[in-house]
Amino acid sequence: MKLIIHGGFFSESSTNQETKKAKQDALSQIVTFGYEYLKSHTALETVVYTVSLLEDNDLFNAGIGSQIQSDGKVRLSASLMDGKTEKFSGVINIEDVKNPVEIAKNLLNYDDRVLSGEGAQLFARNKGFEYFNPITKQRQSEYEAKLNQQNNKGTVGCVALDDSGNLAAATSTGGKGFEIPCRVSDSATVAGNYANQYAGISCTGVGEDIVSGALAAKIVTRVTDGFTLKAATDKSFAELKSFDGFAGVVGISAEGEIYHCDSHPYMVWASFDLNLQVFS
Ligand code: ASP
Repeated sequence: MKLIIHGGFFSESSTNQETKKAKQDALSQIVTFGYEYLKSHTALETVVYTVSLLEDNDLFNAGIGSQIQSDGKVRLSASLMDGKTEKFSGVINIEDVKNPVEIAKNLLNYDDRVLSGEGAQLFARNKGFEYFNPITKQRQSEYEAKLNQQNNKGTVGCVALDDSGNLAAATSTGGKGFEIPCRVSDSATVAGNYANQYAGISCTGVGEDIVSGALAAKIVTRVTDGFTLKAATDKSFAELKSFDGFAGVVGISAEGEIYHCDSHPYMVWASFDLNLQVFS
């Protein structure tokens, strides 16, 4: 059993060590809860549970505390991939919900598995997900001061390998902040979140770069074709260099290899693999 999570990038522009420490503490607590949960649940159930805990923590840019788009609205994106069935589901730019990853989980059982905007919201309401305003005072004042034009990232993600050897990945984001309304993030695409029976990957960083690099799907495909997770990730990150792609990933392979990598300082992450590790 293995579990790895990320809390996006710790903003280079921020020198606030207190926030950094708070994020590390939150990650270590959440990965510990997640690992405990994994002992009696599948990888798929665990990534949904763990990402929902991350969404509920306003230190991260997912669920409550998400970044605000240029028109003053929060639009959330989240996805889920079950490595066992190779099914992907997600919501893109959904408004006024608490846990978009739970809605992605609901969609996994449908033929139409990725919904956007109003359609996603209607689906969520029909499934009983109530109105929730994810804007915090902090995000509102940052928005008003236009402070987070300076790259304050903090998407969340999780990859799990369960006792039966199955992998799953989930990723959730509020986007880049101040983007053109309805800009599509990588987080609910196969570039930002991908898993099969060989590996699972969750990404963070600049969505456009992650999509250009087809990052998560590319790394998982390389592992499927025989690369180790580290070799697959390092090669895919080397390919980001030609356009100075800004990205970070966490991953696990079916062999139990856990790996994380970032192109720029510093993605915050934590893993649980018998012992807890928390780094940034
Ligand atoms: N990847 C996310 C996006 O571009 C942002 C992030 O990871 O911080 O929407």
